[in-house]
Amino acid sequence: MADHPDPREVLRGASIRVTRPRLAVLEAVHANPHADTDSLIRASRRALPDVSHQAVYDVLRVLTEAGIVRRIQPAGSVARYEARTGDNHHHLVCRSCGVVRDVDCATGQAPCLVPSQDHGFAVDEAEVVYWGHCPDCVSTLPTLSTVR
Ligand SMILES: [Zn+2]
Ligand SMILES: [Zn+2]
Repeated sequence: MADHPDPREVLRGASIRVTRPRLAVLEAVHANPHADTDSLIRASRRALPDVSHQAVYDVLRVLTEAGIVRRIQPAGSVARYEARTGDNHHHLVCRSCGVVRDVDCATGQAPCLVPSQDHGFAVDEAEVVYWGHCPDCVSTLPTLSTVR
């Protein structure tokens, strides 16, 4: 991954003290885009076997608040985390298996933060989720011709 920045630099850049749990969790988020907390705990433990659940939760909160990690939570899904932040990209979510894919801004001009009517709000984030079925799941769906 060419665009994988040094996690130490990322933490320092956000004025967050570099600790082993923070490095392990940030690496895990980079390596597992859109992973849920349980997956990230497992991935973090591969680098740091004794890291606790609570430590991973705490690190995710710190990284999210610092804007290093983005938390997404599609309706009906657990929270997921990704290291691709700041570009306000959107997500495709499969209704069947829950797989999440990144989609660039729909207008081609990220971030698409200009609603047709803002009602006076100072908008700083837009969240778009496209729901459907991923290619693997759509192939298992009954086709129109077999549904009667
Ligand atoms: Zn699927
Ligand atoms: Zn994403």
